[in-house]
Amino acid sequence: MIIGGGMSGLAAALRLIERRRECGLDLDVRLLEAKDTVGGSIETQTRDGFLLEGGPDAFITAKPWAIALCRRLGIADSVIQTNEKHRRAFIVRKGKLHPIPEGFVLLAPTRIWPFALTRLFSWPGKLRMAMDLVLPRGPRDSDQSLGDFVRRRLGRQALERVAQPLVSGIYASDPNTLSLRATMPRFLELEARHRSLILGMRAGQKAAGENASSDSGARYSIFVTMRRGMASLVDAVAGRLPDGTVRTGCPVVRLSPHIGGSRWSVEVEGVDRIDADGVVLAAPAYALADMLGRGAPDVAAQMQDINYASTLTVNLAFNRQDIAHRLDAFGLVVPAVEQMAMIGATFANVKFPGRAPEGKALIRAFVGGALNPWAFDMDDREVVRRVLSELRDLIRVRGEPQFWTIHRWPRAMAQFPVGHLDRVRRIDELLGAYPPAATAGNAFAGGGVPDCVHRGESAADNVLQRVMSGRA
Ligand SMILES: Cc1cc2nc3c(=O)[nH]c(=O)nc-3n(C[C@H](O)[C@H](O)[C@H](O)COP(=O)(O)OP(=O)(O)OC[C@H]3O[C@@H](n4cnc5c(N)ncnc54)[C@H](O)[C@@H]3O)c2cc1C
Repeated sequence: MIIGGGMSGLAAALRLIERRRECGLDLDVRLLEAKDTVGGSIETQTRDGFLLEGGPDAFITAKPWAIALCRRLGIADSVIQTNEKHRRAFIVRKGKLHPIPEGFVLLAPTRIWPFALTRLFSWPGKLRMAMDLVLPRGPRDSDQSLGDFVRRRLGRQALERVAQPLVSGIYASDPNTLSLRATMPRFLELEARHRSLILGMRAGQKAAGENASSDSGARYSIFVTMRRGMASLVDAVAGRLPDGTVRTGCPVVRLSPHIGGSRWSVEVEGVDRIDADGVVLAAPAYALADMLGRGAPDVAAQMQDINYASTLTVNLAFNRQDIAHRLDAFGLVVPAVEQMAMIGATFANVKFPGRAPEGKALIRAFVGGALNPWAFDMDDREVVRRVLSELRDLIRVRGEPQFWTIHRWPRAMAQFPVGHLDRVRRIDELLGAYPPAATAGNAFAGGGVPDCVHRGESAADNVLQRVMSGRA
């Protein structure tokens, strides 16, 4: 039984169906989803020739699991890359747009001249960042916040003006609480190995360049999406599940182990109980905590403490001529110190082909998050008024949008505070004392679509293994 029909739960269901077929197993796989549709925070709409993404609009290929899933589904030719032109982003500083200096990789610069010439940082700020070249390594093995890490290695300007807005655009989080180990362990490894982040990243780029030149296979850009929108990935997975596997409109209200037994009792609102040999827990942690409150109170207590941020996206459709800016980038991010409602905005028709008709522009604003919770609480008209006013200043929007749509995502983005991985480990250990169960879902996976696919698949394998060894 899989609880929750977002990307995590769907990936788990598909994995079980694949295993059933490959190994000829006697398995009855069901997925219970509270809402009337599957996909969770993935939602694509079309309107007047625009393709509107309500939730994720892309996924990274450096984590290979989503692209591998597309290949298994036979839809790899529907995966499209970002446009070749204008592969860069702006950062807002004092109400103006500045390109992120070429060679800047999330937290640190790797190329000297673009970094030296940028007006994003003051000279003392640049010198402080260059100190990364000589600073000693920090503490090993301990988790630390991304904010502490960047301040220590590169200084306050690097954090406030680049790292914070870029990281907020991904995790909608406060970098001062965000666990580096849970989100970007690569930077910890770089420090451990090379001491300096700048030197470590330059060495990595050199090695990648050498590998790339000897690699003859098809290569994807870092971010890709689905030609007909992210929902087509959801549809492709759901379409592979045999009839009767997915039950929508089935909110699970209670999940308890049979006393002294090896099975779970799953109680669905308004429906009889269903017994399950094993469960994949792919709903948000707070929903799981409610379900498990009586049956597994120790697990529920740990899950209850996992926080989520609320965000919303606003898609604004324009006539291209109503925006004076050249839109020569994929979008912009806004540092918290700028005190705007937007965390960032994507110039969707510049980033990917087929997002807007000829002569039109599609701007997708990302609003709210842990640092701007007040922005989520505004009503729809107020949100659009604020976003439009911010866009008027930044990209010189002159007219009214042709239309706009809002997607609200209350408590959809799990937060990963320092120590989060220990909590997840503890939950996994505690679950070992119950009938077969494993956690999936973005709170346990690491945030993005590829992580959710990976964790969903591993949770399915884990539960299946325990169920089968119980039968043997
Ligand atoms: C606005 C936004 C933009 C994003 N952008 C990106 C991006 O560009 N790239 C990227 O890789 N990732 C992005 N993400 C993150 C990514 O979308 C999510 O991490 C991923 O889709 C989460 O999938 P999930 O299945 O873990 O959770 P969800 O999608 O939240 O699914 C959980 C499901 O559980 C169901 N459920 C809840 N309670 C119950 C219950 N009691 N019984 C049964 N079912 C229940 C819910 O209805 C839901 O369908 C974004 C997220 C948001 C919100």
